[in-house]
Amino acid sequence: MSVSFPLSRGRSTERPKLPVASIPEGMPRESSNPYHNALQQLEIAARHLELDPGLHEVLKSPERELTVRFPVKMDDGTTRIFTGYRVQHNIARGPSKGGLRFSPQTDIDEVRALSMWMTWKCAIVNIPFGGAKGGVVCDPKALSLAELERLTRRYTSEISIVIGPNTDIPAPDMGTNAQTMAWVMDTYSMTAGHTVPAVVTGKPVAIGGSEGRSDATGRGIVCIAGEAIAEFGMKMEGLRVAVQGFGNVGGVAARIFHEKGAKVVAVSDAIGGLYNEEGLDIPALQECANRDGSLTKHTGGVPIDPRKLLELEVDVLVPAAIENQITAENADRIQAKIVIEGANGPTTPTADSILKQRGIFLVPDVLANAGGVVVSYFEWVQDLQFFFWQENEVNSRMEAIMRKSYADVRQMSRNAGVDMRLAAYLIGVKRVADATTIRGIYP
Ligand code: NAD
Repeated sequence: MSVSFPLSRGRSTERPKLPVASIPEGMPRESSNPYHNALQQLEIAARHLELDPGLHEVLKSPERELTVRFPVKMDDGTTRIFTGYRVQHNIARGPSKGGLRFSPQTDIDEVRALSMWMTWKCAIVNIPFGGAKGGVVCDPKALSLAELERLTRRYTSEISIVIGPNTDIPAPDMGTNAQTMAWVMDTYSMTAGHTVPAVVTGKPVAIGGSEGRSDATGRGIVCIAGEAIAEFGMKMEGLRVAVQGFGNVGGVAARIFHEKGAKVVAVSDAIGGLYNEEGLDIPALQECANRDGSLTKHTGGVPIDPRKLLELEVDVLVPAAIENQITAENADRIQAKIVIEGANGPTTPTADSILKQRGIFLVPDVLANAGGVVVSYFEWVQDLQFFFWQENEVNSRMEAIMRKSYADVRQMSRNAGVDMRLAAYLIGVKRVADATTIRGIYP
């Protein structure tokens, strides 16, 4: 199949028709292993692109994987050993980029999958980065602030042999935040002997972070939702939205949907969910979540089972928590018209096929949640130049990239007659494959 990337100009108000992409024979039908799912998604794209088998092999395997086991002194005087990872999937288009996840569930395959998804994401929005990801197996909620700081600093020191402003640049992900990034930057800088702000993004603005970074992923999701709903003739005003996950991505997306006049009827976190037919008061909920550590104590709605949130009859569903939330088990009960993936890997490939068959329009993670890495790119550029931009400039440049990327993927989806995930992969994988081919194999 030959691929071209014309930019979409007009918008159709028709419900998009989405042919089902076939799952290759011999691949597992449903797996909870995110790396298996990432490989399956790549396999489908490789077949459509008629990718050279050698090149496919190159893209299947992460280029570099580091596993570290390191001691941390706990507050009670004991010493605990933690396991951490940093995986760099591909650097054909530039230094690798990707978040750090602190979670009890993380493992090497999850980090591999997340690093591969970062490679495609950076290529789809056409920023000059490859993909990476890091993780530490820990429950950040069960650690004191002092323990978290010691863990972050020791982990940074362990992976400092593979990260750097020209090589691999971490950022926040689940369980980490701007403070974590400040500790990473400070630890790396202490060894370098001078301040190196560009080694990490998502830092506080006071130490070289970018205006707009903390909201960027959520803002990008709402921007992409705006493009998708326009195709269905829907407007933000009164749009019925459900958001799973109320952290950096889901919480911010819910707030911006609310600010733009949408009715956020349901939200959930790891503990529970809340529903209000008339729309939840998101700023009040956010205050409650900050104060109590969960939104479930809020009285402005009725409790809802977080799993049932996914099955609500809404215009837009935003899964913004963890992987494997829409699976073969529940895909036929999803009633949203549009799914905008805020989390990485929330939909399994089997569920993807079921949603397509049912005519549910899905905007994939590698496009929908790319606003964060786009502003991380801006932060890196600002840090390298020591020249900082205003928030409105950051937001409007990010939204311009998101809208153009959506139009490119939508056009590819129409031209090639495939769904949005495969269309995004055809663009992203091809850009990485082309860069790899042009560079050639060393030596
Ligand atoms: P976070 O730690 O800030 O928030 C995660 C939220 O999900 C929390 O509210 C948590 O309670 C909730 N949650 C966890 N398990 C849940 C469950 N089973 N059901 C419902 N809610 C649950 O993390 P985040 O930064 O918001 O990341 C969320 C997702 O978005 C991850 O997949 C991450 O990789 C992806 N992502 C994050 C960014 C970023 O800039 N932070 C960028 C792109 C993608």
